[in-house]
Amino acid sequence: MSEVYLKKVFKTIEKFKLIEKGDKVFVALSGGKDSASALFALKEYQKAKSIDFELKAFHINLGSITSDKIQEVVKKQASLTDTQLFTFNLKEKGISLEKIAKKSGRPICSVCGVIKRYLINKVPRDLGATKVATGHHADDFTVFFFKNLLGLNFSWIGKFKPKVESKNEKLLTKIRPLFFVGAKENEDFCKSLNIPFLSESVCPYFSDKGKIYDKTKKWYDVIHKLDEEFPDFKEKLINSIEKISNYFYEEDNLMSCKLCGEPTNKEICTFCRLTKENLP
Ligand code: SF4
Ligand code: ZN
Repeated sequence: MSEVYLKKVFKTIEKFKLIEKGDKVFVALSGGKDSASALFALKEYQKAKSIDFELKAFHINLGSITSDKIQEVVKKQASLTDTQLFTFNLKEKGISLEKIAKKSGRPICSVCGVIKRYLINKVPRDLGATKVATGHHADDFTVFFFKNLLGLNFSWIGKFKPKVESKNEKLLTKIRPLFFVGAKENEDFCKSLNIPFLSESVCPYFSDKGKIYDKTKKWYDVIHKLDEEFPDFKEKLINSIEKISNYFYEEDNLMSCKLCGEPTNKEICTFCRLTKENLP
């Protein structure tokens, strides 16, 4: 199983030039099967090919009651691949998801998303990263594609590709080596290699995801049914999404946040708006 899986991932890495000589790639680990698969597959790629690049791991500890348990699993994933792990602990930095959610009136998962997106770019970049790798996979992009198509958010579709390059020196290039494999394939890959992982439901705030999670699951089920009816439906769809993304691609018009200097499309970035007290 893992040979077929790795062949598919290696093909994505090579076709889309995800890894280049001299790269310092940070894999954002959540403790789940998808990011673990990205790390293990990239490690296998490093072992199999003679390209000189560094591989590091990065984890954000959300400071919840289960975060230390999650961090332990992440540590095991990193040590099994002999990868140096950097962690960022929200609590130690005085950031509380619960407090921010209460104060801002935003759902906790939305706050979590803003904070993670900001730190997944800033922290690895400050540590010398050239690229950041995530575990986003074909099923994610297929569902995002339909949601954004129906919501008329075409510019987002422009980013549904294995490599999102950045011309902004502060914004890291994002790579998605699992773009053409699905969630089930990631799970099978982890199980075949005895890679430890946790489900996202281990997060104490998971129930807050409620409706969004249920809707996403319904989408997965519908797509899965179509795949049973029409041969290679999922594969053909993700191939089309990758090609269509080129038609919707728009260069981000970013400025620097007045407070932290990070790239943003507003004067003050959402991270600063949420985390800094007494804003003007
Ligand atoms: Fe973040 Fe937990 Fe919500 Fe997932 S379930 S988005 S980890 S707060
Ligand atoms: Zn800012």
